[in-house]
Amino acid sequence: METVDPFDGLDFDLEEVKKIKEEQDERRWIKDPRVCSCGHGIVRHKFVESRNAWVCEPARMSCPCKQKEPVLEVQDTRDFLSKTKGHGARHALALGIAISQNKGHWIRWTVDKLCFICKDPDERPTLVALKKVGDNMVETFEEPGPYNALICQRCRQNLKNPANLGYEGLRSVD
Ligand SMILES: [Zn+2]
Ligand SMILES: [Zn+2]
Ligand SMILES: [Zn+2]
Repeated sequence: METVDPFDGLDFDLEEVKKIKEEQDERRWIKDPRVCSCGHGIVRHKFVESRNAWVCEPARMSCPCKQKEPVLEVQDTRDFLSKTKGHGARHALALGIAISQNKGHWIRWTVDKLCFICKDPDERPTLVALKKVGDNMVETFEEPGPYNALICQRCRQNLKNPANLGYEGLRSVD
């Protein structure tokens, strides 16, 4: 049987429809360009009624983020699906920035690149994943954590003695 082009006789064709569909898919991800300090798009964070908690679910994994704090605006949040494997360059946010840069996508910071705790402009902060143990905030080291922050080396050292620190810089959504 002869196949008839379903667009035959119309003033638009399959190519045009495909292009519109691609644009729509694209727009779905760029509608909210914000990326959280955990290294994943704000759109990936959802409130789950049954658990009465926020969850962050980038593709194929779940992230323990409880902060939902935008730190970047990016061209495509799909570049930000990495998993934190440590601090600094091994943090999901750093990995996402690298992927984004490789693709030539634009990124801008929406927070000052200062230590979230002391905000000292003379310090060069690193990216750290943190968790609460009792009343103390400690570094997770090689795993993703519910809190993620730019923290200077001095404050990072002080985390070992949390009595020295206030954590007002670390927002929580629960
Ligand atoms: Zn997050
Ligand atoms: Zn996350
Ligand atoms: Zn500091």
